[in-house]
Amino acid sequence: MLSKQEIQQFRSQLMKQIEELPADQSDAMRMQVESMDDQQFEEFLIKNKMIQQGRECVFCSIVKRDIESFIIAENNDVVIVLELNPVSRGHALIIPKKHLGEIEMISDSILAVAKLVSAFLKSKLKAKRVDWLINSRAEHVVFNLIPVYDKEFDFQRGKADKNELMKLSKELSFEFETEKKEDEEEIEYEMPRRRP
Ligand SMILES: [Zn+2]
Repeated sequence: MLSKQEIQQFRSQLMKQIEELPADQSDAMRMQVESMDDQQFEEFLIKNKMIQQGRECVFCSIVKRDIESFIIAENNDVVIVLELNPVSRGHALIIPKKHLGEIEMISDSILAVAKLVSAFLKSKLKAKRVDWLINSRAEHVVFNLIPVYDKEFDFQRGKADKNELMKLSKELSFEFETEKKEDEEEIEYEMPRRRP
C-alpha cells in the first residue's frame, strides 16, 4: 500500500505525462484520474504496471491478517497486538488500520485508545508505568506501549516465545465497548416518537 505522499507524487507525475497528450485525450484522462480516490488510483497504477504489487506494508498486513500476530483487541480504528520482539513483558503495538505516515494525521480517538490501553496494561500487568514510543517504520505510524517494571528496561529486544505470546495475548484480550451500538439503540428508541 502506498503512503499518501507517494500517491500524491504518482498523481502529479501522471498529470505531467497527461499534459503532453493531444488535448482530446488528455481531458478525458485527467478527468479519469481526478475521479479516482487514493485506493482506486493505486489499483489503477498496479493494473497499468506503473507500480508493482506486493510492496505491502507489514502493519497493513497485520491489520488484514496476512501475517500471524497475537491480537489483544480491535475496534474500527485500530488493531492492538503484542510485539514479537518485546522490550518488556506485555509490550504492545497499537496499529491504526489506516496506513498513515504522519503523527499529525492520527485521530483523537486513536490517542484515546492508547491512553485506555496503557492504563489497562499498567493495572493488569502491575507495571510501574507504561512508556510510549511512537514510530513510523514503513511509513505507517505505530504506537509502542511498553510496560516498565521495577527493573527498568533496556532496549535489547529479545524474541519472545510464541507460546508465551499466545498465552499473554489471551490473558490481556479485551473488547471495546462499541459506541456505534448505543447510537443504533438510540435511533430505534426515538423512531416511534417521530411518527405522526
Ligand atoms: Zn501500512
